[in-house]
Amino acid sequence: MLEYNDHIAVALSGGKDSLTLLHLMVKLEERFPRSHITAVCVDEGIDGYRDEALNLAKDACTKLGVKQLVVSYRELFGTTTDEIAKLKLDQTPCAYCGVFRRKAINKAAEMVGATKIATAHNLDDEVQTVLLNMLHGDPTRIARSGPVLKDPRGKFLPRIKPLCDIPENEIVFYAYLAGFEFQSVACPHGYEALRNDIRGFLNQMEVKHPGTKFTLLRSAERLRAQMSESIQLPDLHECVQCGDPTPHELCEACAMLEAIAA
Ligand code: SF4
Ligand code: ZN
Repeated sequence: MLEYNDHIAVALSGGKDSLTLLHLMVKLEERFPRSHITAVCVDEGIDGYRDEALNLAKDACTKLGVKQLVVSYRELFGTTTDEIAKLKLDQTPCAYCGVFRRKAINKAAEMVGATKIATAHNLDDEVQTVLLNMLHGDPTRIARSGPVLKDPRGKFLPRIKPLCDIPENEIVFYAYLAGFEFQSVACPHGYEALRNDIRGFLNQMEVKHPGTKFTLLRSAERLRAQMSESIQLPDLHECVQCGDPTPHELCEACAMLEAIAA
């Protein structure tokens, strides 16, 4: 996942996963004097939720001596998740928020001159997403995700998920034992019914059949290895609005901004 001289943009939300990731990356980085870390944080504009997390993220960066860049949806997209949640739109606030966050992290990572983006997805997140893709009828997405994402066209910064095979409950344990202060409030817009059902199902399976989550992760890795050979990536052009690479006329974020403005 990492090279000795990487400049890693760690996506830091202030939650237990990303704080754990930042601490581990800082420990690793101490052994590689030519590497750098910058924490990149995104302010989605969610009252009473993001403020707490951003303060925790700021404290952690100060304690660890890590540089931090905060970007906001307001400055990048001219709107906030709270504002989007008030509109009558086809998709859930999370659908918009997720696409905007991805773009915001990419932008922030480019702004600090990073060579890679590290995100704190854990084992539970990964296997939930595998099942979600299957239930959405889009198994090819499995091939387009994974612990290391390198765009062979070189248009996007590589993304890595160093915690992808660590169960969520072990991360919680680590965060408690290490004495981290992490975000306690849940996002008021965060209700993704299908993912919640999958989370419950996988947790039940893990209790009844320990190892289920690891087995699913390994199965997805095998599928990915087989599918990635046959999947053709589309050509990329510049988005006519923002200039970012996209296979369409508009990138996903700009298409969503148009739908919001309509
Ligand atoms: Fe955004 Fe949904 Fe996460 Fe809330 S739960 S921060 S709306 S993606
Ligand atoms: Zn665009």
